[in-house]
Amino acid sequence: MGKFRLVVACKRCGREFDTGRRMDRRSFQRGTLAANYHTCPHCGTRETYRKADYLIREEPPRY
Ligand SMILES: [Zn+2]
Repeated sequence: MGKFRLVVACKRCGREFDTGRRMDRRSFQRGTLAANYHTCPHCGTRETYRKADYLIREEPPRY
């Protein structure tokens, strides 16, 4: 089972960025992920993101 990258869309500039978190599907579904701070690399805005804000992207397979 693959891991997911947790990505969010910046609340200010709307661009997506990788939060650096990695999680499998089960952990994501079980986790609460309440109020995590992430800083947007594009505009520098630091905001809190909740579970509903995360977009999950499957890690590409390694060769
Ligand atoms: Zn931004």
